[in-house]
Amino acid sequence: MVTIATMCDRIDELADCNCTLCSFFTGLECDRATTTVEVAQLPITWNDYVTQHHLRLRRAGALTDSDSWSIATQVAEVITSIASDFPVGVVLQRQGSAILRRPE
Ligand SMILES: [Zn+2]
Repeated sequence: MVTIATMCDRIDELADCNCTLCSFFTGLECDRATTTVEVAQLPITWNDYVTQHHLRLRRAGALTDSDSWSIATQVAEVITSIASDFPVGVVLQRQGSAILRRPE
């Protein structure tokens, strides 16, 4: 399980940015970077999935108020929406704000 936690400050060129910050995903549980992810259907509940995002955002210091569950839910929805654009088993890579199928 991953999130998209980092981006550089080149907002105007994010879609084309290929710098390190814009090229990796962050593991929800381990906080480590990875450059590829595989789309998977996981045997967990939606609540457990949002909880993983919530815990990760809290560890990162991004949540400090009572809206934190709502923010975690929004992040989980975005990640799920991105993943749902691809079939299970596909390996994805990131290029700025774009999530793309890794070339074979
Ligand atoms: Zn960048």
